[in-house]
Amino acid sequence: MSLVPATNYIYTPLNQLKGGTIVNVYGVVKFFKPPYLSKGTDYCSVVTIVDQTNVKLTCLFFSGNYEALPIIYKIGDIVRFHRLKIQIYKNEPQGITSSGFASLTFEGTLGAPVIPRTSSKCFNFTAEDHKMVEALRVWASTHISPSSMLVQLCDVQPMQYFDLTCQLVGKAEVDGASYLLKVWDGTRTPFPSWRVLIQDLVLEGDLTHIHRLQNLTIDILVYDNHVRVAKSLKVGSFLRIYSLHTKLQSVNLQSQASLLSLEFHLHGGTSYGRGIRVLPESNSDVDQLKKALESADLTATQRSDIISQSEHEDSFPALSSSGSVSLYEVERCQQLSATILTDHQYLEKTPLCAILKQKAPQQYRIRAKLRSYKPKKLFQSVKLHCPKCYSLQEVPHEGNLDIILQDAATQSPDNKLQNTSLYDSEIWTTKDQGGRKVVVHFVKNNGILPLSNECLVLIEGGMLGEIFKLSNKFHSVIPVRSGPEDLELLDLSAPFLIQGKVFYYGCKQCSSLRPIQNLNSVIDKTSWIPSSVAEVLGIVPLEYVFVMTFTFDDGTGVLEAYLKDSEKFFQVPASEVLIDDDLQKNMDMIMDMFCPSGIKIDAYPWLECFIRSYSVTNGMEQQICYQIFDTTVAEDLI
Ligand SMILES: [Zn+2]
Repeated sequence: MSLVPATNYIYTPLNQLKGGTIVNVYGVVKFFKPPYLSKGTDYCSVVTIVDQTNVKLTCLFFSGNYEALPIIYKIGDIVRFHRLKIQIYKNEPQGITSSGFASLTFEGTLGAPVIPRTSSKCFNFTAEDHKMVEALRVWASTHISPSSMLVQLCDVQPMQYFDLTCQLVGKAEVDGASYLLKVWDGTRTPFPSWRVLIQDLVLEGDLTHIHRLQNLTIDILVYDNHVRVAKSLKVGSFLRIYSLHTKLQSVNLQSQASLLSLEFHLHGGTSYGRGIRVLPESNSDVDQLKKALESADLTATQRSDIISQSEHEDSFPALSSSGSVSLYEVERCQQLSATILTDHQYLEKTPLCAILKQKAPQQYRIRAKLRSYKPKKLFQSVKLHCPKCYSLQEVPHEGNLDIILQDAATQSPDNKLQNTSLYDSEIWTTKDQGGRKVVVHFVKNNGILPLSNECLVLIEGGMLGEIFKLSNKFHSVIPVRSGPEDLELLDLSAPFLIQGKVFYYGCKQCSSLRPIQNLNSVIDKTSWIPSSVAEVLGIVPLEYVFVMTFTFDDGTGVLEAYLKDSEKFFQVPASEVLIDDDLQKNMDMIMDMFCPSGIKIDAYPWLECFIRSYSVTNGMEQQICYQIFDTTVAEDLI
């Protein structure tokens, strides 16, 4: 079997793995995602294995070559990985591909021939290896539940996720985001399969054959990332489709009757191992499948379960509202959304065309795609919002801030206001700036100076650079100037509080400033909470918000809605996004997912949102505007 001189490989039990090592391991597959195209041009596969030590190891494999990834067909398969790199991820060992990585896969069934699946041309396989595989098979037979996900079509239930072994008899492109596969496994479904409407689309395959099998074929719609794989499949090939989803639907007929049918969907993404894999003719499950296909009864007619419309009225709202919607479009409407609703689940979906005809104010649940959004540059979307007077303003530019601070610095510090019971003061005189004086007042806690990382400092006459230096070292910084009787805050064009890199601003219209001495009343609090500081100083704090315009399109109409959100929608705080590159990347990724460039809108994800309408009077004209609310980006998005 081997052309390579036997090397003695040492296999590490999964309970003895250490980060930073390269090991050889054996294991039984507990979970896997068939190879899929990841963000770049690489294929990715995720495999979780377990061995007799009962310790699990999850491995992430990347390769430019699909075939180089482990050839796993089902849970319970046995794998051998050579040169697997172990790294520590979230305190757990994780396996990743290292250079020279190689894998063999074996069927896990007791008694099945031990034939390695691999793309390697030469590999080492000894009697010792044979024993390892047999031992794992024996162990797995009592420790791993068999792949119960494998179901034949005659046994499928409505609302089920299962793995199907089948033969492809026809395929057709439906639109950019979905693709039709016609398959069979020789058995008949308990309800007739739905038929996806493909009027103008070319069905690839032997039409006479498909017609002959028609009672036995099912229509599967695959979405998004699976479309690419589906396109590449050859008619006649044997497939395993993982985590296929069934739904029972009633289809309206012309009369008062409706027909129950079973829909098959392979949803987008790779969660739960969703995917498609071509099985070779040599696979033992293909053997069984071929037998089933040969003995299939082609003459049996399909049951049709006609029931009266009144019995089943509520199960198909989407079709009854618009008779011309084809079945796959209905499914598209029910597919998972890239956003989730945080409330009001009872609201029914309303098409945009209907919303555009109605008066304000109202609330709607919509399902639409994001055709475009403004502004394109993230930093332009961050604004300051007053929760009291609802005014919106731009976040001051650093250059402007320096001018405001410079103006305040022209006033010389008053000696009388230094070293009080509230704070100790230190004065610095700058050398090369005309003797500008900077005074830093360190606020005490019950007469004692706290540690610098807990200490609030007041700065008088400081420039932006000095403020940044202080905010780096001290808990909080407040820019102040000498007033007639007490230190006072600068004009609210400047931040009233700086913590780390976050600047807190107050509303000029709504605030009525109180003396700095009032800080006394919050001094016992261990941390300087911005809202508490604002309150004692008489400030109505402004919130950082994202303000964006989303142009939604659901195929029935186009509607512009605006989003004003501090952190609920994106799960990213607007106050920190401008100072954190990682958060910016997160946001860019989210927007790129919602509204990807370079592809047709058909392939964009659906967004489910709540919007409320309200009237705005613009001169003589009444205009209806829409705002997004109680909606958040789905967590497993990326
Ligand atoms: Zn205000």
